[in-house]
Amino acid sequence: MSLLNPDVFIVGAGPAGLSAGIAAADAGFSVEIADCSAPPIDKACGEGLMPDSLMALRELGVGLDGVETAPFFGVRFIGRGQTAEARFPEGTGLGVRRTVLHPLLMERAEKLGVQFRWKTVVRGLENGTVKMDEDTVRPRWVVGADGHQSRVRHWAGLNTGKLSSRRIGLRQHYAVAPWSKFVEVYWGEQGQAYVTPVAKDEVCVAFMSQQKFTCVEDALSHFPELSDRLDAAHPSDAPRGAVSLVKRLHYVQSGNVALIGDASGSIDAITGEGMAVGFRQAVALVAALKANDLTQYEASHKVIGKLPHFMSDGMLMMDRSGLVRRHVLKALTAKPQLFDRMMRIHVGHTPLRMLGRDGVLNLGLGLLTA
Ligand SMILES: Cc1cc2nc3c(=O)[nH]c(=O)nc-3n(C[C@H](O)[C@H](O)[C@H](O)COP(=O)(O)OP(=O)(O)OC[C@H]3O[C@@H](n4cnc5c(N)ncnc54)[C@H](O)[C@@H]3O)c2cc1C
Repeated sequence: MSLLNPDVFIVGAGPAGLSAGIAAADAGFSVEIADCSAPPIDKACGEGLMPDSLMALRELGVGLDGVETAPFFGVRFIGRGQTAEARFPEGTGLGVRRTVLHPLLMERAEKLGVQFRWKTVVRGLENGTVKMDEDTVRPRWVVGADGHQSRVRHWAGLNTGKLSSRRIGLRQHYAVAPWSKFVEVYWGEQGQAYVTPVAKDEVCVAFMSQQKFTCVEDALSHFPELSDRLDAAHPSDAPRGAVSLVKRLHYVQSGNVALIGDASGSIDAITGEGMAVGFRQAVALVAALKANDLTQYEASHKVIGKLPHFMSDGMLMMDRSGLVRRHVLKALTAKPQLFDRMMRIHVGHTPLRMLGRDGVLNLGLGLLTA
């Protein structure tokens, strides 16, 4: 069933679109979501949800009890013969396959009365009217949650901004019991491979690089330690690729249109925070809809993105410069308290502003001078 003219029409049923739908329906708006795919929607992803991401999900009323997940207690960096690790200051992270998370978000949305149009491509947006192949709707609000290549962003004239990084991701699941209770990030000359436990007998490996790996074997050949680990493990599905962009937009709303998730700009995948950013934006967006003021969302969007962009820029500095990478890995191994501090910032336990300018400089110097 589709609604005649819903309060909120969302283009895209990825994690950001679904969370916007949940938050909006929970606030009493009538909501319709269209996606060109059919559920459950899969996507190349590291599939790790940090404790702060899980908290954001819980705020949307979505829990992960009773589904296949695997816990992790922190992050381990491995590279150049060094191993450094930091535990989360509070809580546990969970690895969860996208095909497990998607139905949970959908169920929550359906329970709140959200209507879906699957296998429906949104073709255009004109004077507030959403055009599909066989239908048009005129909602009060349109939300573009249509990912990196957002057409809604283009139609709404919101494309201006800055693209500062473009990397290629490749994901492969392996049928093997997780050997670590940490998300492991292997740092190499050609990028990173990170391993997230996603079930009691499965791990997800995401490779990130400036260049496209020709295949999983090619990607693995750049990470010999990981390759040894996976020697006897079998891939449990087909590999999947996706791009990861660092993009900041000048504006994320115009008229009755707002952008959310990757459509509204993005951070590098290596941060593991992409989905959490979308969850938080959803809550902020709906607060703005309730206030009938999308400029309020514009301001919240900037605040939400600040820390993830800071972490993303730092990790990309390590990716681009062998010298920085060497120093940082050495520093984090020699001074675990530095890694603990970074982790507390990363998961939002210590607000970035509490460090102050001197604190940020000291942290940077500590990392580069070990
Ligand atoms: C390799 C890799 C690893 C990552 N690892 C992590 C991680 O460990 N943790 C984490 O939190 N994040 C991770 N991310 C980031 C995360 O995947 C994204 O931030 C997240 O998927 C963004 O969600 P979204 O809903 O904005 O967009 P998407 O998930 O891209 O969803 C957009 C949806 O819009 C639909 N759509 C597009 N155009 C149209 C149209 N015209 N009409 C109808 N429907 C349309 C698409 O079908 C799609 O379903 C990773 C990303 C990559 C590439």
